[in-house]
Amino acid sequence: MSGGFRYCPQCATPLQALAAEEDGGAKTRLRCPACAWTHWNNPTPVLAAVVECADQGGRILLARNAAWTQRMFALITGFMEAGETPEQGIRREVGEETALQVDATSLIGVYDFQRMNQVIIAYHVVARGEVRLSPELAEYKLYAPEAVRCWPAGTGYALADFLRSRGHVPQFIEMPPRPAAP
Ligand SMILES: [Zn+2]
Repeated sequence: MSGGFRYCPQCATPLQALAAEEDGGAKTRLRCPACAWTHWNNPTPVLAAVVECADQGGRILLARNAAWTQRMFALITGFMEAGETPEQGIRREVGEETALQVDATSLIGVYDFQRMNQVIIAYHVVARGEVRLSPELAEYKLYAPEAVRCWPAGTGYALADFLRSRGHVPQFIEMPPRPAAP
């Protein structure tokens, strides 16, 4: 994946796929032929939250992104801001996207999501209050832990691990096949 870069962000020269010696040997990447800037294309960390609504019987909040065409509900996710820890970031994201008050957070685990070149840092977030979704999210549902369905991708595996930690056997939904990443 190119990550969308076509021009050097330092000198605006068109990038080229060029081989160069790196610590791991010769490697072809998008590089600038003029100033040697390299597009490393490292995976981006993404924060995700399994939100447990403490004042809604411990049900799990899943939300549907307004940009999604499928009617699919998933974890609250967001990117980290500079200058915050992952835990501060997930508290901020849950607050911004749901208006819930966060009582506690604990790390579920770290998951790869190679199709999007992301690494998912997933938290269990205990929250309370009245849900008011940000415009990014179209709707939400509350699921009893024993009724929620997981999906076979990064955040879905995080949800499954959370459920296992609570003594539930995670059930997975079928997903339409996607083209393999290049
Ligand atoms: Zn350049």
